[in-house]
Amino acid sequence: MDARRVRDWRPITLALALVATFVILLVIGTQRPDETPPAAIQAAPQDWNRKLGPGERPPQFVLFSYDGAGSHDQWTRLLELSGRTGARFTAFLSGVYLLADDQKKQYTAPGHAAGQSSISFGGSQDDVRTRIADLNAAQQRGIEIATHYNGHYCTDKWTTQQWQLELQQFSRFIDQAGVQGLQVEAGAVKGGRTPCLEGKFDAVFAAMISRGMTYDSSQVSDGMLWPAQDKGIWEFSLPMVRMPAVGNKKVTMTDYSLWEALNHSKDDKSKRDEFARATLEVYRAAYDAVLRGNRAPLVIGNHFNDWAGGGFGVAGEQFMGEVCGKPETVCTTFSEVIKWMERQDPAVLDQLRKQPAAQT
Ligand SMILES: [Zn+2]
Repeated sequence: MDARRVRDWRPITLALALVATFVILLVIGTQRPDETPPAAIQAAPQDWNRKLGPGERPPQFVLFSYDGAGSHDQWTRLLELSGRTGARFTAFLSGVYLLADDQKKQYTAPGHAAGQSSISFGGSQDDVRTRIADLNAAQQRGIEIATHYNGHYCTDKWTTQQWQLELQQFSRFIDQAGVQGLQVEAGAVKGGRTPCLEGKFDAVFAAMISRGMTYDSSQVSDGMLWPAQDKGIWEFSLPMVRMPAVGNKKVTMTDYSLWEALNHSKDDKSKRDEFARATLEVYRAAYDAVLRGNRAPLVIGNHFNDWAGGGFGVAGEQFMGEVCGKPETVCTTFSEVIKWMERQDPAVLDQLRKQPAAQT
């Protein structure tokens, strides 16, 4: 179900990264002892949203992200946690959750009949009202609402026009929910994560650009890399990292892929604590690797699901609780990181991107 593909150009990027590392090592090797490499000064978290000073290292951004974003139980827990820790995150909402079951005919996925969805719809009118209140509370906390598109169709086939149709419908569901009190504006939805991380990205990005969107987080990279712009869209890739619980195999760091690696996605509730520990171990190692390495924003991808008794949700929440208050660490949203990147000297960002991917 999950895309494991690494884009074709990754090997070239890796080769370039290796060359860059070699050059950096050469430069460091020829430095005089009084020329301390730029690493010593740290950005204080409360003062992170500004241009870096000379030689200053970037804050360690952690980007918690949740796909689906329909469950009231999960919203309740995460809003409480965010209120307690000040952590912000991004919710990739499935648009059909804004349609009550009796409104399902309002959605027509490309290539499907009206009223079909692979993840059902929003439930009762009451369920939708509750969800709207959750989304409003989230937005008031600075949590960002982005899109996981609508009916969770996993496909590499859709054209630009079909992705546009999907996004137009997402905007329409947001606008209609506005009549019922939703305070999220369709125009404020700037990012997307495709279902199953699938899609022909030329087509996805062209559709996003035509809707004024700015970022995607659906591609997979080998280790943690700084976001780069591709055809005008910032790509925040999900990293492949080593998972000790499965013999250090490399796994895409999303709940679904970790679950697949652990027991082929068998829904065994007795595995809740074991899987939570295995996932937490992965998160902690990835955080240490970026913190000590290239400081790339760490993207944690989860769903609002209770797979394996909720073990992945437990790990995500525990990690949010422990990491967001750490020195130099900022748990925020994708759009805030884009604003931060746009404040920086482009040469500084280029340097960051040229650093080798952080690996666990
Ligand atoms: Zn999904």
